[in-house]
Amino acid sequence: MFVQCCVCKRIRTDGKYRLPWPGELSGEIAETYCPRCARETLRLIQTGELAAIADRRAARRA
Ligand SMILES: [Zn+2]
Repeated sequence: MFVQCCVCKRIRTDGKYRLPWPGELSGEIAETYCPRCARETLRLIQTGELAAIADRRAARRA
């Protein structure tokens, strides 16, 4: 089973994240955040930027 970052799409192998080779991904894939994207996402949440992005998306739909 692969563990893949849902933001940058890198996969975890031997405790490290790297981009998968073409055709490498198959079977079950668990989505997670790699440490880099987790930090970035946390920063967006803490600064309120993530909420601002969601608000803009909602406004576009309205
Ligand atoms: Zn990532």
